[in-house]
Parts: sequence; C-alpha cells; structure tokens
Amino acid sequence: MSWIKEEDMRAIRQQADIVDIMSNYLTLEKKGKNYRAICPFHDDHDPSLSISTDKQIFKCFVCGTGGNVFTFVQKIEEISFPEAVAKVAQMIGYPLEISTNGFEAKPNVNQPYYDVMNDYIAYTQYELNAATGMACLEYCHRRNINEDIIKRFQIGYAPAQEKSYHYLKAKKYSDEILLDTGLIREGNDGYTSTFFDRLMIPIHDENGNPVGFTARIITNKEGAPKYINTSQTKIYEKSNLVFNYHRAKDFARKKHRCILVEGAMDVIALEKADIHEGVACLGTACTTNQINLLKRLQVGIVVCYDGDRAGMDATYKFSKMACEHGLHFVIVNNRTKKDPDEIFEEQGKDGLE
Ligand code: ZN
Repeated sequence: MSWIKEEDMRAIRQQADIVDIMSNYLTLEKKGKNYRAICPFHDDHDPSLSISTDKQIFKCFVCGTGGNVFTFVQKIEEISFPEAVAKVAQMIGYPLEISTNGFEAKPNVNQPYYDVMNDYIAYTQYELNAATGMACLEYCHRRNINEDIIKRFQIGYAPAQEKSYHYLKAKKYSDEILLDTGLIREGNDGYTSTFFDRLMIPIHDENGNPVGFTARIITNKEGAPKYINTSQTKIYEKSNLVFNYHRAKDFARKKHRCILVEGAMDVIALEKADIHEGVACLGTACTTNQINLLKRLQVGIVVCYDGDRAGMDATYKFSKMACEHGLHFVIVNNRTKKDPDEIFEEQGKDGLE
C-alpha cells in the first residue's frame, strides 16, 4: 500500500488551483466569483457542476458528486486516491516520486539549475545597483521602469564578460552546469559568460521557476542584436514558455482577460500602466503548448501586438492558431504603428488602456 506524507498532501492541495486542474478536463464557465461546467459524472446538458474558488471545492447540484481537487482527479481519471494526489503533484510540478515504499518527496531534478539561476539573478540585481550598473539603472529610469517594477521582475544588469564568469566560478559552479543553464558558452579562448553589458530580465516557467533570460542592449554597439535570449537548455524550452504567466494568471482571472503582447518590454510597459495581466510569447509565432497554457486561464485573450507589418503578421498567425484550438480572443486594432511601450511613453496610462 502506497502512502503520501501528510505535509506533502497539504502542500500539494495548497499549491494546486482547482480551477487550473479542472480546466485540463472540462470547459469552465465563469459565474461571478465561481465557475460552472457540464458535469462529467452524469448525463448533464446544463452546466450543473459548480466550482468554488474560495473553498477550492466542486459540487454537482444534480448528481451530488463533489469534493476537492484530489477527489475530482480520482473520479474523472478513475484512479486511486494516492494516484490522484501524485497526478496533481505532477501537474503542478511538485516533486513527488513513487518509490517501493510508496510516494516520497524528492528534490526536483532541475532544482540545481534553478539554484544557479536564482543565484545569478541575485548577482545581476546587485550589479544593477553597483557603480558598474549605473548606466543600466539610468536607462531603466529613463524608460520609466520604477523600483517597484525592477524588484517584481527581478531586473538586473550583467556586467563585463569576464566579471560574470568569475563570479559564477567563485561560487564553485562547474562549467558543466553553467553550460547547461546557458549562462556561459564556449568561445575561442575558453568559456565566457553569455550575457554581458545588458539589462537582464529573468524568464520563468508557468510554476515560477527561473529558466532563462531576455537581455537588452544598453549601449548601442555596431552589429550587436538589441535582444538576446537564452537558447535551448535543459530547463529552457522556448515553445513551452509564456513570459510573465506565473505572475499574470491570478490577475487575469480577476480581470477576466489576459493581454498578449510581443515582448517582455511590452509586458513591462503594461505594468507601468498598472496592468498586471500581460504576457508575451517570446518569439514570432505562438506554439500549441503556449496556446494550451493560455487556454488554462479560462479568460479571453486580448491580442495587442505592435502596429507595424511584423506585428500584423504575428497577429494573423496567432489568430489562426487560436481559432484552430478554440481559444477565445479579441484583437486590439492598433493603428498607431507603435508598440505598447511607445504608446505608453506618448499617451500615458489612459492612452494605453
Ligand atoms: Zn453531476
């Protein structure tokens, strides 16, 4: 007989949002603070199943089936209770492993990578406020990115090439793990840090684990790209990532909308206007995985790409994908030929809204 520790069970129940989990199985419809769905446990034609977000429980008013997130998964998957707990744990990325003794919490295999990333994020935050980061901090202030946004988005500054590498080596990280996280790369003269003299914006997965960076140039250099992003690593899978998803999802559910913009800087532009439900698909076209993540929010998507040709093309591509996957969306008719950040700079909060 397998068993799960009480503390794990409690932690999983706390971290798993019943709306999030149930939306993987059913189409949920928002009704005030709560949700409704067609009950899968009897021959239902009206949405008789109600989900309480406060209590994190569900109940069908016709057949009486009800319970918490675990009971739901147990019933719908027709599996045992411990299996349902394990399934929910897997869905939210909670490290629970089945062993011969039953279910046991084990350290997440990716935890060492997240630790390196968190460490490096803290370092770039420190550098932003040091003398070397002054030009970068001034850039932030010039772009109206205030201290609050800098803190919440953990914005930092990657200093000169050798400096980052020395710091990471001083922390005793192996070259292997630094290569695996994409923080260093192999050059002609050995290893060098991937990011240098750039504004650093961390990218997280949907559970809030740090997996990569988008890095913006501060001082214009001939031929240097404006942005560089982490390329494919053990923890960074571009096609699975929606920038700011972990922070935006609660706001999106409250506001009944999620605003999709092109880049991280556009998400930050929305933040300047106190709009917290912005996300970005980091790349030219949205993937099926990204569309599915957006679908899980169970809210309408407001597409607000740049007003230029590339933005219009991207809007068309997104719309096509969204239609194919049954994702509800509206398109902001942006006639300005500008991106959300430029609109905010010129017209302020009201203009952007
Ligand atoms: Zn029912």
